[in-house]
Amino acid sequence: MRVLAIASEVFPLVKTGGLADVTGALPLALRDLGVAVRTLIPGYPGIVAQLKKRKVLAGFDLLFGGKASIVGGQAAGLDLLVLDAPHLFDRKGGPYGDATGNDWDDNWRRYAALGKAGAEIAGGLIPGYTPDIVHAHDWQAAMAPAYIRFGGHRPKPTVMTVHNLAFQGQFPMSIFPELGLPAAALSLDGIEYYGGVGFLKGGLQLADAITTVSPTYASEIRAPEFGMGLDGLIRVRDNVLHGIVNGIDVDVWNPETDGHLAANFSARTIGARARNRAAMEERFGLDRDAAPVFCIISRLTWQKGMDILAGTIDDLVAMGARIAVLGSGDQSLEGALLAAASRHRGRVGVVIGYNEALSHLMQGGADAILIPSRFEPCGLTQLYALRYGCVPVVARTGGLADTVIDANEAAVSARVATGVQFSPVDADALIRAVRRAIALYADRRIWASMQKQGMKADVSWQKSAQRYTELYNSLVPAG
Ligand code: ADP
Repeated sequence: MRVLAIASEVFPLVKTGGLADVTGALPLALRDLGVAVRTLIPGYPGIVAQLKKRKVLAGFDLLFGGKASIVGGQAAGLDLLVLDAPHLFDRKGGPYGDATGNDWDDNWRRYAALGKAGAEIAGGLIPGYTPDIVHAHDWQAAMAPAYIRFGGHRPKPTVMTVHNLAFQGQFPMSIFPELGLPAAALSLDGIEYYGGVGFLKGGLQLADAITTVSPTYASEIRAPEFGMGLDGLIRVRDNVLHGIVNGIDVDVWNPETDGHLAANFSARTIGARARNRAAMEERFGLDRDAAPVFCIISRLTWQKGMDILAGTIDDLVAMGARIAVLGSGDQSLEGALLAAASRHRGRVGVVIGYNEALSHLMQGGADAILIPSRFEPCGLTQLYALRYGCVPVVARTGGLADTVIDANEAAVSARVATGVQFSPVDADALIRAVRRAIALYADRRIWASMQKQGMKADVSWQKSAQRYTELYNSLVPAG
């Protein structure tokens, strides 16, 4: 089975969030099941240079205004195809925008090019290579099914995975003529969306199968509250929608070998976490005492409930919590959290920015992680937390609901609890959840049991990779 995956991020080459972790780890798990994944990614600055055994495999004389080529090669165990198109991707800043966070004006062109390149590869652009399946991740890859359907090639089965329905790639109708698609593509059955062009909408409409990253999110997005305008379409395509929970790369995230920790540990040597906590206290300027440390590793946005955190932080501190925040995002939320840190010196520490190494140390040192997301397609930080003995305190939504076992009385007495869940997602419920976590923490036997249960949970890709394999097999005609 040969799969062409298409994505705008892949760990460790380029990452802004969970998408990259998934596209970086799933191919490795699929390989063990006999599925060969090649992943097409944009040629952001420095990407091609990181490839081993690199080779130009094909070229375009003209792709959305410039010359482009497909460079094949390997990195981090992944088989990559890089769309080297300097006029689209060789820019300073982030993958999606400039250094100040403004999206590039021509993102539609950049990611239409990515989808088109994927469709061309599916149609035989690279001599000697044809995939059996095309697997597009999120809106940036979502034009691939449209180019495959309307591009005049022999059709290929396509899978569209939604990592977050909030990011849809919606653009004005005026871009349509430049996409190079026939008029038929601009219909309700194609990429037309509320009078404009919808990249993700097109992918959801045209792909043979749709997946999203947890069963609960798959059912939530059928309703207007979580469907973000696409719930009607999702309901119509219900029969091809699958919820497959994400796993994590258990080699990158292994507390026994993790080089970012001050001390490595396993479930049996969990006491060594104390050294990581001490390193965290130092880094975040927290008092050294016995109060539990709650960490937050997150984009600082409304989705992640960071306004609820900022609004309740005084109460949480008053209840005895110490809080360490690593994140970046909305400036007003960054400001509110920094202000809380200066109000509560020694009790609240905030580091603004993106720091992979520090995120590992926090998972290995904090007592608990707080995830008050309003919606969460899967969420990865709770999975890292489980593996690192850091107890997740989470909103009961999406993948958080599917992966954390709430410490209610029954679960505690059966010793199966791994964390705390709360709903609704509001200030009162968050405060109650933290109060509950502090009480559980005070009972060392219960807390140790929760940590151990979490560390035993299977958060690897194994089971989910099996489900993707079954899905691929169901789409490829026999013989
Ligand atoms: P999302 O993709 O919606 O941001 P996920 O929980 O699925 O949320 O994935 C977030 C990923 O990004 C995790 O790997 C998390 O550790 C990482 N992350 C988020 N913010 C930071 C940060 N400020 N520094 C380091 N890693 C971060």
